[in-house]
Parts: sequence; structure tokens; C-alpha cells
Amino acid sequence: MQVAAKRLAEAKKAGTLPDDVDIDPTDPRAIANYYADAFMDDARLLGIKVVLDAEAHPHRLPRPTKYIDHMIAMVQSLIDRGHAYQASDGVVYFDVSSWPDYGELSGNTIAALRSGQGGRVDMKTQTVKKNPADFMLWKPDASHLMRWPSPWGEGYPGWHLECSVMARAILGDEIDLHSGGEDNIFPHHECEIAQSRGTTGCDALAKYWFHTRHLMVNGGKMSKSSGTFFTIRDLLDKAASPAAIRLELIRTHYRINANFTMQGLRDAQKQIDRWVRVATWLETHAGIQRTTDDPGPMQCALVEFIAAVSDDLNMAGAIGAINVGIGEMSIEAPPPVGTASSTWHDELVALRAMDSVLGVLELNTSGGGDETDTADIDALIAARREARDNKDWSRADELRDELLAMGVAIKDGDGGTTWERIVQ
Ligand SMILES: [Zn+2]
Repeated sequence: MQVAAKRLAEAKKAGTLPDDVDIDPTDPRAIANYYADAFMDDARLLGIKVVLDAEAHPHRLPRPTKYIDHMIAMVQSLIDRGHAYQASDGVVYFDVSSWPDYGELSGNTIAALRSGQGGRVDMKTQTVKKNPADFMLWKPDASHLMRWPSPWGEGYPGWHLECSVMARAILGDEIDLHSGGEDNIFPHHECEIAQSRGTTGCDALAKYWFHTRHLMVNGGKMSKSSGTFFTIRDLLDKAASPAAIRLELIRTHYRINANFTMQGLRDAQKQIDRWVRVATWLETHAGIQRTTDDPGPMQCALVEFIAAVSDDLNMAGAIGAINVGIGEMSIEAPPPVGTASSTWHDELVALRAMDSVLGVLELNTSGGGDETDTADIDALIAARREARDNKDWSRADELRDELLAMGVAIKDGDGGTTWERIVQ
């Protein structure tokens, strides 16, 4: 919060905050709202479903500060059940020795944690705790920037508490799936489990845990100084569509580190542009009967796609399956009219079924302030064709430049004009 406040204060002084942002850098709630809104804007652009759903159901995207009463109630219930205690420094801690299952997720045993503590922890805090691994539930601190009244004095909750409390309030005592980054496994998720189960008495907090590995950039850690730190805005400014960013981020199996590269983003953009062209072709010819009732390339791809996704979310395999199907589509001309009962609509349905998992076809827009989408590009290309037909070469060149400025390169061929987005 301090870092964020400092950054905002600097940006305000330098005049680099957007015009419509008027924020008091000393107000922690204003800072939190500012960053939460920025996150949600980006998430909306990328079509992240939980954020889109929250527009109709705001309680699905809860804010911890609205659940302080629930947190206090959980701390009290842990004390009542003998899993928590207030130490001589006034802080309420979870007593890990009261919870034999501590370590069930991460494999860390209390004994191993004790021997591993060494000099890394603040000895003053350690001496008041019953066990070195005991973690904070409530800290009284009347001088803290954000504080609330509680039975243990004015202060603030331990940071593990919010997820346990909000999950329970909204989803119930036991949930199906809990996800997070691998760095959350310990201590965060381990502590969540202990608190939640210690309160609910259930056998589990979540039936399944889903942890993704780190996101690397150019094979290394993201860093501002080496130029490998990108925001979503930076990438959109390079003319990547939100769809391409999405595909580049999901194309790797979640159990291995994802490696983001600009070349990967360009490749993702090329793939999606090709998928969109196939989808458009299928929409145009959806009513035409095929020459055979055998499954076409998209229906065959769908079978492989489902098999891959069902195999521990093998997204690389799933994306490969689409690309095989797409590669077998010939879309240079309308399809021959057949007499089969199957139409090209069946193929379109299969492609859309795959996209219902990936969520990219509708997001292949410029994503920036101007809502340039495929239809706009097609309209400009049609206008350019008309100009050329009328031998109005300067108008045709103007339109080509306009497209280039939008990050769209065009190519004239025998079958007409094709285009591709150029990610810079
Ligand atoms: Zn959490």
C-alpha cells in the first residue's frame, strides 16, 4: 500500500495520471479502488469470465473490506474451538499444534518448519508464539493505515483470513475447486485450510486444488529494467488483439512455467486471424449442404480437442487440434454444393464449441480505445477494392495506409485481398 501510494503521488506530481483520475494518494481505500478498477478493466478486455459475470452478480467478486465482521467471527470461533490464542503481544495467532493436518497441502510438517526457522524470522515475535509456524489472525495496531474495531483491539486481520471467510460466506463450508499460483501453496493455502477446517469442522476446504506455475517472459523473470515487464495496455498498443494475448497466456500446460515472448504473441495473433477467417467463411456458407455426412475438419478437431482438454487441461494439445482442423479447411472459394443432410453450419457449431473453451473469436478486436474489429477491417478493404475498381489509386493507397496505421497489413492475391494483424 505504501509503495502504491508513493507511486500514485509521484504520478500525480508528474502529471502522468490519466485526466479523468482524481485520487487522493493518502487515502488507502482510494488507492485500492484505483488498482482494483484498473485490474478489472484489463480483465474485461481479456474476457475473463469471473469479472464479466460480476457485472450482473457483484457478490461474485467480493471485497475483503466488506467482510471484516465475518473475519472477526471466524477468529472468535477459532479461539472458542481451541485453535487460536491471543499472545502477550496482543496478536491473535492460529495454533498449528492444535491442527495435526497442518502441512496436508504443501507437505511441510510442523517439525520441519520449526527446524527451518533459523534466523529468518523476527525473534521478538517468535518468542511470544507457541510454535514458530503459528500465523497471525488479528493484529491490534491503533496506528495502522487501515484498521477496524475488534474484541482484541482496533487493528487489522491476518492476510490469510480473507479467502477463507469470503469463500465460506459466498460458496459454503466446502468448495469444489480452489486455484492460485504455485507460490500460494505455502504458507497461504496451507493456512487457509487450517483456518477454514478449524472453523467448519469439514474434512476439506476444497475438493481440488489447482495451482499454476509461474509466468516467465523471454525465459526469465519479468523485470522493468530488462524491458520484459509488459502491462496489458503495452501489448494492446503493439497492436495485439486481446484474443492473441489470451491465447499466448493459456497455450502452455498449467503444470509448467508459461513463457511469454513477443514472437509467441505474433504467432498467436496469426493463428487467431486464421481461425476468424475460417469462422467468417463458415458463417457465410452455413446454409450450404455438404457433399458428405462424414464429420468435417472442425468436427474431427472437436473430438481431439475435448480429449486434450479432458486430459488434465492439455491446452497445447487442444490448440494443436484446432490448428490441424483449420489447416484442412479450404476457404479460398465457396464450397461445392452437395446433397448430404449435413451443412457447413455443423462445422461452424464445432468451431464455436472449441471457442467456448478458449474464448478468443469474439475478442479479436484492437482492444484499445478505438473498437476496431474484423468487420471494420473488412469494410475498409471493401472500400479500397471499390476505389481500385474505379481506378481511384490515391484513395486506395490512403485506405491501405489507414489499415496499416491500425496494425493491419493487406495482401492482394488471385482469390482477393487477405489481411493480417501485425503485432509490433
Ligand atoms: Zn487466498
